[in-house]
Amino acid sequence: MASDDARIEAYIRKRLESFPTPDLTTRLEALFVRTGCSDEALASVETALFPHSLHRDFLMVQDQCALAKEQRDGTRELFRRAFEAAPVRAACMASEQLSALRIEAPASRGAASRRRTARLRHSADRCPAMSRPSRSSTLLALLACLGFACSEAEPSRPTKVSVPQRDASFGMARGFNVLVVTFDTVRADAVGCYGDPRALTPNIDRLASRGVRFARAIAPAPTTLPSHSTLFTGLDPLSHGVHNNGTFRLGEERTTLAELLSGQGYRTGAVIGAFVLEKRYGLAQGFDDYEDDLHADGAAKGAAHFVERDARTVTDRAVAWLARREERPFFLWTHYFDAHVPYAAPEEFLRGKPRRDIQGPWDAEANRRDYLAEVTYADHELGRLLDTLGEETLARTLVVFTADHGEGLGEHGEYTHSRLIYEGSLRVPLVFSNAALFPAPRVASDRIAGLVDVVPTVLELLGVVPPAGLDGIGLFAERPDAARAIYSESLVTLFNHGWAPLYGYTRLGDKFILAPRPEYYDLRTDGGERRNLFGPTQPVAQELSRALRERIARVKPLDRSAEAVLSDDDERWLSQLGYSRSSVPLDAGKLDPKDMIVTWAVLTNAGAMVERREFDQAQREVDAVLARNPGDPFAWEVAYTVHYARKDWAKAEECLLRLLELNPSAEAFVRLATVMIEQGRLVECLALLDRAAGELPDHGEVCMSRGECLYRLGRRAEARDQFERALRVDPVRCGTRASAALAKLASEGH
Ligand SMILES: [Zn+2]
Repeated sequence: MASDDARIEAYIRKRLESFPTPDLTTRLEALFVRTGCSDEALASVETALFPHSLHRDFLMVQDQCALAKEQRDGTRELFRRAFEAAPVRAACMASEQLSALRIEAPASRGAASRRRTARLRHSADRCPAMSRPSRSSTLLALLACLGFACSEAEPSRPTKVSVPQRDASFGMARGFNVLVVTFDTVRADAVGCYGDPRALTPNIDRLASRGVRFARAIAPAPTTLPSHSTLFTGLDPLSHGVHNNGTFRLGEERTTLAELLSGQGYRTGAVIGAFVLEKRYGLAQGFDDYEDDLHADGAAKGAAHFVERDARTVTDRAVAWLARREERPFFLWTHYFDAHVPYAAPEEFLRGKPRRDIQGPWDAEANRRDYLAEVTYADHELGRLLDTLGEETLARTLVVFTADHGEGLGEHGEYTHSRLIYEGSLRVPLVFSNAALFPAPRVASDRIAGLVDVVPTVLELLGVVPPAGLDGIGLFAERPDAARAIYSESLVTLFNHGWAPLYGYTRLGDKFILAPRPEYYDLRTDGGERRNLFGPTQPVAQELSRALRERIARVKPLDRSAEAVLSDDDERWLSQLGYSRSSVPLDAGKLDPKDMIVTWAVLTNAGAMVERREFDQAQREVDAVLARNPGDPFAWEVAYTVHYARKDWAKAEECLLRLLELNPSAEAFVRLATVMIEQGRLVECLALLDRAAGELPDHGEVCMSRGECLYRLGRRAEARDQFERALRVDPVRCGTRASAALAKLASEGH
């Protein structure tokens, strides 16, 4: 037994040499003291290793990796064997390891440089007029010379050779179709080729097997609309001005990928999976067809911004759109919302396991399982879309797969997403796929990428000159730059809770978060962001902090003078209902989100208590949060639901007025109207609604409330007009109620 222990310990230590993380080391030490090196201990170690992308299937690769570090000359042969033995995922993993080793392989540098220089000159000579096969080989050479990890490349290192990079990648996919697929709420490690062995995504892996997978891709915000706005403009949120769902829209003055490709003669179409991206929020610019009629499918479920269309229906709609194909190339965007809460994948994707009881105690493993089941379901539907396209069309289609943000899954106290900006919420999958351009899997692990880079990269490949002033770069045209930082933010903290905003700069190996207590992490050794290294003696962090502050300071701060001239409080928030806020408040919010995140969970829980009619307990929870932070709009919203459920209209109204003062939104306004109607203050309410209609002419709920007011005032014909309008402008959210109201009017002879 003693010799077994020694063997197991040696085994673990070898792994720690490859992937040393402080968290893992601590856990292992505790484990050894408690249990020795039993099988149980080993199993626990394996679990601890999962977040670090290690898997039993990959252990052979890891063994070879460790061995290769001692025997550098044997590296290539060992990895070749790994590729032969391992499936696509193992190949991708091994490719990353190879890249890491390559940088550490001084013996092979000179020869590789010479080889690559020769390859590069050869390829540059043949540009730009080239046949398709030579395009492919040229891009391969280009990828290699730009330092992309390459499963068939020889150990090499970026050189200082001057190359006509733009010419080399520019127009490689000229005239190709473009398919952009976004999976909402999918963190990188929820995708098989990114390493989680519990993730089952054969179709995304299939794309990666003939594409370039960016190992470190970062979303600009953990929120759907700001992130998609960046994806389709090449601008970060500071530049496009969209900072939250529901209360912002992408301005007409922005230029989207759809507009650019439409201008190139492309047929453009989008099928979205959630109301939060409905055309009223500005992303439909440039699309010939923008299928956001979620109500028409009958499958839509959910509330408010999160009414969703399931993956099967998204694919059905996309397939129908493709069937109406024309001769010109297409640009299609499909958005799959399934991985967003609630996790409710069809039974067959649960792999025989029961769903987590959401009323029961927190079970991280079961929660993750249900989440991954949704990702697998969406992947299955993506597969159906790819199969429908068929090999011939896919050969002429550049497929970009990514996600708008990830999911916290309980890490750092965040169970879903939108508030914190740690890796779970910001690190997303990003794959550019086309079998002709990338016949073998490639992993770009030597550079950081952002969703902000997608527009310039697609345009480069298509041979379209990107507009000036983009924040992103063409990923195939630029050399790796270790100093490059990707901007991210969360202003939801400020708008929804009155906490401080969060701003981040993420680089390939480290990350800085600007918060009341700033954070700096070395991601190379601390992927879980558990050891905050920020301090006055940390020069790199100080430098990132200064650069980030300068970047933010270049944005025009919120202009409050326009609000100040309005003396009436109602006018002040009424003027802000129309998704009109587009500036960034820099001076608001002092509470640190990492200290306050627990209160979000408390409030969410209190909301669930209201649904269970546990009003007293819910009220106590909300009061506790408000005692700590009376400026939390979300707390006032939950407090309102308690009083509304108790039919305490006066207190409900008090909460709503406070909410509107702190964070004006159309939803809060409509609730206020409802409370006034319940109190019989019809004339007063109607006057307010009439003014709101000026700000929100296409808001179905405002029409519904006006209709209700008018109906109660006996003005039936005008009420009917309002219900009809609600049905027309917002059938997703109002359709059922508007139809019922119209039927009632009809039965009364109106
Ligand atoms: Zn989202």
